[in-house]
Amino acid sequence: MEKNFDVIVIGGGPGGYVCAIRAAQLGLKTACVESRGTLGGTCLNVGCIPSKSLLNLSENYQNAKKDFNQQGIEISNIKLNIKKMMSSKDKSVQILTKGVEFLFKKNKVIYLKGKGVIFSKNDVVVYDEGKKTSYKTKNIVIATGSTPASLPGIEINEENIISSTGALSLNKVPNKLIVIGGGYIGLEMSSLWSRLGSEVTVIEYLDFITPGMDREISKEFEKILTKQGIKFKLSSKVTSIKDNSNLVSVEFINNKTSKKEKAEAEKVLVSVGRKSYTEGLNLSKVGVKKDDKGRIKVNNRFQTSISNIYAIGDVIKGPMLAHKAEEEGIAVAEILAGQAGHVNYDVIPGVIYTSPEVASVGKTEEQLKELNIAYKVGKFPFLANSRAKVNNKTDGFVKVLADSKTDKVLGTHIIGPHCGDMIAEMALAMEFGASAEDIARTCHAHPTHTEAIKEAALAVDKRSIHF
Ligand SMILES: Cc1cc2nc3c(=O)[nH]c(=O)nc-3n(C[C@H](O)[C@H](O)[C@H](O)COP(=O)(O)OP(=O)(O)OC[C@H]3O[C@@H](n4cnc5c(N)ncnc54)[C@H](O)[C@@H]3O)c2cc1C
Repeated sequence: MEKNFDVIVIGGGPGGYVCAIRAAQLGLKTACVESRGTLGGTCLNVGCIPSKSLLNLSENYQNAKKDFNQQGIEISNIKLNIKKMMSSKDKSVQILTKGVEFLFKKNKVIYLKGKGVIFSKNDVVVYDEGKKTSYKTKNIVIATGSTPASLPGIEINEENIISSTGALSLNKVPNKLIVIGGGYIGLEMSSLWSRLGSEVTVIEYLDFITPGMDREISKEFEKILTKQGIKFKLSSKVTSIKDNSNLVSVEFINNKTSKKEKAEAEKVLVSVGRKSYTEGLNLSKVGVKKDDKGRIKVNNRFQTSISNIYAIGDVIKGPMLAHKAEEEGIAVAEILAGQAGHVNYDVIPGVIYTSPEVASVGKTEEQLKELNIAYKVGKFPFLANSRAKVNNKTDGFVKVLADSKTDKVLGTHIIGPHCGDMIAEMALAMEFGASAEDIARTCHAHPTHTEAIKEAALAVDKRSIHF
């Protein structure tokens, strides 16, 4: 068994496994250590993939229950089999995690099962079920990701007080679900369980949901989710959560009025963000420094305070997104192989996979105002898009922000059907430095949802055709 490597990647999530594959493609002798037992990290095991699987399945269930009969598809006795739904989700996860193992074999990445500990800048020890194996390496990439955060004094027991991991494997639909935190994970979980029959209440500290999102989109999103039956308690600070075995009680106080309230539910999902995970890596002994938020500090070449130890993904600063971690993984592999290695942080799309989806790339209106950049806005509602109309999914709109002087696209924010896929067009446009005029003059197939993007780009110069 090989014991000497050019690079050892610790963590087999989207940051780590992509970095390992790219490094091996570039001719570096590469190993990847993963302690979970399966590859793919948070994303494939307990994040992006199981959540999108259940979101899709729950939407199918809801469509069958609510819409099919009206559309001339007559079915009766629709029953939910949550066990079957969960095993369908588990199967998808298994196929994809096994797929990464196959990719490792194909690219000659050595998969080291166990917990990786850094003993020195050139020594990694892997612990696996009492067995200890030492490896030498020229470089180390830390890609150990993140874990769910909680509120002070509140313990997530994964029984009645759960994290997203627990929310992705419930074996029964809770009658009532309280979700603490109105960010993207909390809202995806809210949609999922609300579609399956839970009465969902979201408690959010701020007076708006999805912080960081363009505020106009966030307001529309809240309106649409409310219409779908999700209740919101905004400007509310949770002061205590008590698990009384059959019911969990949550006390919260309104930040503005100081009014105290109490709510009860079978399950409470704590979804207040995630924190970088570095436990057991031995960082302080080796001299790898962290910032005040516990994230590993890196320079613009992803080097930590020890120059041959790199860090990427959720364990460093920046949006906690799988595709951001992947881009950083590729950049580090290319840097290690003597190439440039670069990530354009101005063009990292973000998607919320509810129905309708929400997607954005680039600057929000609020950010442009703060930066004092003069901009023009073009908007187009899906109500005027023929594809959305025939599919009877007309909620939402496209908003394109372009520079007032140069017309360069600075940001695009969409709430509407399939926009999680559509946003790629605008990410590409921004990478190429496109103007709103470029988008407006590009022929878009009819009838497609993407025509709403073209129309919003036309609307930047007040010449939209269909609205
Ligand atoms: C419910 C949910 C839904 C999400 N949905 C999306 C989405 O739709 N789109 C999106 O872009 N992002 C989504 N995310 C975020 C995404 O999962 C993360 O941003 C991404 O997984 C980060 O990748 P990473 O490689 O940095 O870390 P991770 O995926 O967290 O992987 C780190 C891996 O390192 C391993 N590890 C840690 N320490 C050690 C050690 N010492 N030795 C060996 N192995 C170790 C861990 O076991 C883990 O497998 C979601 C997250 C959650 C929780």
